[in-house]
Amino acid sequence: MWTKEDLTKTIQKNLKGYKFIIASNKEPYMHEYKGKDIKCIKTVSGLTIALDPVMEAAGGIWIAWASGNADKDTVDENNCVKVPPDNPRYTLKRLWLSKEEEEGYYYGYSNQAIWPLSHIAYEKPIFLKEHWQIYKKVNQYFARAVLEEIGNDKAFVWLQDYHLTLAAKYIKEQRPDAIVAMFWHIPWPNPEAFRICPHKKEILAGLLSCDLLGFHIRYHCINFMDTVDFELEAKTDYEENSVIYRDHKTLIRPFPIGVDFEGISQNAKSQEVKSAIDNLTSQIPPPYEVLALSVDRVDYTKGILERLKAVDRFLQKYPEYQKRFVFYQVGALSRIHIQTYKDLINKVQELAEEINWKYKSGNWYPIVLNNKGIDYEQHLALYRSADLCIVSSLHDGMNLVAKEYVAANVDLKGTLVLSQFTGSARELSKGAILINPYDFDSTADAIKKAIQMPREEKVERMRRLRNNIAERNIYRWAGKVISNLARL
Ligand code: UDP
Repeated sequence: MWTKEDLTKTIQKNLKGYKFIIASNKEPYMHEYKGKDIKCIKTVSGLTIALDPVMEAAGGIWIAWASGNADKDTVDENNCVKVPPDNPRYTLKRLWLSKEEEEGYYYGYSNQAIWPLSHIAYEKPIFLKEHWQIYKKVNQYFARAVLEEIGNDKAFVWLQDYHLTLAAKYIKEQRPDAIVAMFWHIPWPNPEAFRICPHKKEILAGLLSCDLLGFHIRYHCINFMDTVDFELEAKTDYEENSVIYRDHKTLIRPFPIGVDFEGISQNAKSQEVKSAIDNLTSQIPPPYEVLALSVDRVDYTKGILERLKAVDRFLQKYPEYQKRFVFYQVGALSRIHIQTYKDLINKVQELAEEINWKYKSGNWYPIVLNNKGIDYEQHLALYRSADLCIVSSLHDGMNLVAKEYVAANVDLKGTLVLSQFTGSARELSKGAILINPYDFDSTADAIKKAIQMPREEKVERMRRLRNNIAERNIYRWAGKVISNLARL
């Protein structure tokens, strides 16, 4: 099993003499005013939560857009601050965007064009020229910040995700010797879906400036290479898994991202988490025998409405679970300036109220929504206590909640109900109960199956899942990317 120390050694061995620079849209920590005090908060996203332990092991510099209202007041003259706050291990370099840039680059092109384009969730992408122009400009800012940090040194630059499709090209124009990798954290669609994008050729050319391009699963690598075949005059090699475009070779590789299994398992057993478990009843007012849990950013790709409809169907079909079953949904609000997200938040609220009204009896009701957020101990307490965790994404690059739930399940008592349309389903099909989230009826049956499964089968399935996740952890993921680069 890969450990933090193994990763540190791999980095020291393979990247000796190189600066290690990560760039992502989201920052791993933001500073926020609470009255007159400033609090440092860990941000919520699969990407930042996954890469934070990697950076702790690697050291180096992480460049990201500043999103906290006290961010400016906590950096030095180079816009840098050391993080994590209680045990600084690496440097966070912040990049400032104006409101107009935030609107065009983040809410606009990244999240209303590329996000729906890449996820098959039947939400139409919006391609506006103004957003595209700003998106290009912000990619140049990121490239400039990276180049500043490279200075005259040799560097390994690791770009993250769909916000930065053009940055590699701008970096390589100035520093062709820099080694640039990119990891795409979301699905890559098939060529038919991608071809509607008016800026497709520039996006592909941007990505093909990288030396290594990583996706979660092989299927997304193939989709990407098929897309290149469809759109560009390039040489795709399906044996070597590479593309040569304008005399530059890009390796295309699957690297399924993992979680910090050991860290999560250890923390789940801590005294703080045990106390949080004892306090759960104050968070979950209706009485229950069976607790089902979901934890997501409120996003239309996560299938939250579909999940609520399945809970409704479950209670209708199996009325013996009324007054005994509670579904707890943690929903972190995100991208709330986009109308589709505002509408979704309202729809989730309305549907939950409707279902609660339908089944409510005495002081019991079936659905508890929490949009206020939870702290880390409560989070792990919920993972450890929930009899089942429902991940019903309509389409998801990986889905880390599924893996975290397993890592926190130190008592081997939980069951994972997992959408077959997540990247995680490729690795976890042996232990999880797979569902098609569009089919409420069979999801309702899957909930029943998870509850009624004999204890020995639950333990056996959870043990399998834990073995898998322990082995394919976050340090292995980062180590594999770095070893692949070292071979270049
Ligand atoms: N998360 C959290 N609090 C919430 C909701 C989500 O800390 O209220 C975390 C969750 O534990 C996971 C990440 O956010 O680490 C979500 O990653 P995932 O891959 O599941 O989805 P993404 O949000 O990246 O699409």
